Amino acid sequence: MNECLFCRIAAGEIPSTKVYEDEKFYSFMDINPQAKVHALIIPKKHYADMAELSAADAALAGEMLKKACLVAEKLGLKNGFRLITNTGADARQSVRHTHIHILGGEELSERMG
Ligand code: AMP
Ligand code: ZN
Repeated sequence: MNECLFCRIAAGEIPSTKVYEDEKFYSFMDINPQAKVHALIIPKKHYADMAELSAADAALAGEMLKKACLVAEKLGLKNGFRLITNTGADARQSVRHTHIHILGGEELSERMG
């Protein structure tokens, strides 16, 4: 059995609130929102982090950014949004399946780190 939480979410083995899905990506609401609107988008194929994904498949990484913007539009974030992808220990990446956070729905903090 796959031990990776986000692989299991993408496969529908663990429930999530789906926002968007296509053949390569899955997007769902974050379980512990850090803004009024907080979603995540993941590639269905497992890459530990954005460094690994972008090195292995830059086209897929670019497509993921495009889809993150599409999800922001779907979520009605007309006034702006923030995309964050924590990569590695210093960034406090807690789930080692790369993901982009999509944050918005309110004016966000001036600080990012
Ligand atoms: P990061 O710290 O950048 O690795 O982000 C991991 C994110 O995944 C956090 O914002 C968590 O709240 C979120 N998360 C963890 N488990 C779940 C889950 N089962 N469903 C939705 N979001 C989750
Ligand atoms: Zn995974």
